[in-house]
Amino acid sequence: MEPYELTITEACEQMQEGNLSAMDLTRSCLARIAGVEKDVQAFITIDRDGALQQAEVADKKRKEGFAGRLCGIPLSLKDLLATKGLKTTCGSKILENYVPPYDATVVSKIRNEGAVILGKATMDEFAMGSTSETCAFKIPQNPWKKGYVAGGSSGGSAAGVASYECFASLGSDTGGSIRQPASLCGIVGMKPTYGRVSRYGLTAFASSLDQIGPLCRTVVDCALLMNIISGYDPMDSTSVKQVVPDYTSSLVDGLAGLRLGVPREYFTAGLDGDVEKIVRNSIEVLKERGAEVVEVTLPHTEYCVAVYYLIAPSEACSNLARYDGVHYGYRDMAAETLLEMYKGTRSKGFGSEVKRRILIGTYALSSGYYDAYYKKASQVRTLILNDFKSAFELCDVIISPVTPTPAWRMGENTDDPLSVYLSDILTLSANLAGVPGISVPGGFTQNGLPVGVQIQGRHFQEDQLLRVGFNLERGLQLGKRALDI
Ligand code: GLN
Repeated sequence: MEPYELTITEACEQMQEGNLSAMDLTRSCLARIAGVEKDVQAFITIDRDGALQQAEVADKKRKEGFAGRLCGIPLSLKDLLATKGLKTTCGSKILENYVPPYDATVVSKIRNEGAVILGKATMDEFAMGSTSETCAFKIPQNPWKKGYVAGGSSGGSAAGVASYECFASLGSDTGGSIRQPASLCGIVGMKPTYGRVSRYGLTAFASSLDQIGPLCRTVVDCALLMNIISGYDPMDSTSVKQVVPDYTSSLVDGLAGLRLGVPREYFTAGLDGDVEKIVRNSIEVLKERGAEVVEVTLPHTEYCVAVYYLIAPSEACSNLARYDGVHYGYRDMAAETLLEMYKGTRSKGFGSEVKRRILIGTYALSSGYYDAYYKKASQVRTLILNDFKSAFELCDVIISPVTPTPAWRMGENTDDPLSVYLSDILTLSANLAGVPGISVPGGFTQNGLPVGVQIQGRHFQEDQLLRVGFNLERGLQLGKRALDI
């Protein structure tokens, strides 16, 4: 067994016992990257020297008795999390050479625990997309099947973890970008409650929807990372002052007393047969472990896509106004006037999906249209939140598919943005309502593609999701590995 195959928990034990060092783990991941990265394409930047240096420091710290909870664990970070001194491109040409002068709060937190940052993961440009194909530099591939998408927008994070290039990754989820790639790549991915994790240093896409969360190979690793990244941060006024429980202690065998809600609207036409079978089987497994199954309804689900694709682009067009060639990033040097410079910078710097969102958002916010679009969408957003509140009176968590289909072929939907938007239908509502959601591997299609199961819960009840996920993992014992790439 190679060191890169261990879980974080196992690797920590091995280091504690002195069988492995941070240097061993880091070298093992770098060798794995050298072997598979040409196919996986999970990294925009690989910081080989930096990683080896961090590993050396981690080993020294451990010897001195100061090992943090991630001491010596090699991780990747989605390339929209600010890393001091390390390029942060957001998958965009406009930030191709941008080197942040500071670390995001989550980055400081994992550094303080001794993590080794291997590099920055491929992603859809500014996190806009569901396949990572809008990335300006590289497009990750699904480690389970050549020629299939890894999902997105945190596609590089998911592909890198699934292919054992790194032990875990941090991504962001605005409408499903952690849960969906985790599902398509057969790993665990959690979107925490809005406000649970500081967004300071996360490049803003849609500020009222964005959350940072972990992508890991096991639920135990996910709980560990949640323990580390959660909590109030004075640098993010939307982070919430709430006690962070020890998520690891919620990982107990058995689900006695837990009510599992099955939303009628999530199992409708358009749901792939294999996906439905896998989710229904998972429900049975959880039932055997003591959960009580109840049917619930989320009647406004059909409006989620329309609401999200008004609110997210509206916030995005405002957030992306800062990329104007003046402060930082790419500047069109051929321009002769200031106006030409703005125009040239943004026309050449942004890719077509980002431009599409800016146009939609600008239109939706323009005077005369605001009431009909943005305001109306915000009102329906409240109805979506109320759906969850009513459902959570009848159940403790909601179980469903993550996406209506498994991963599709690369290039298949690149000319059809609407069909890609529609594939987000089952993940958007958690962001609109601010509730937490997790994707846990549920099984494989006949075609050998992994399919995740989504569990959503009440605000700040990530512990319940982890508990259910842990029981699903134990009950299913899938045990397959994406090593055959
Ligand atoms: N696929 C969705 C979008 O393109 C969600 C992306 C995300 O969560 N960052 O907007």
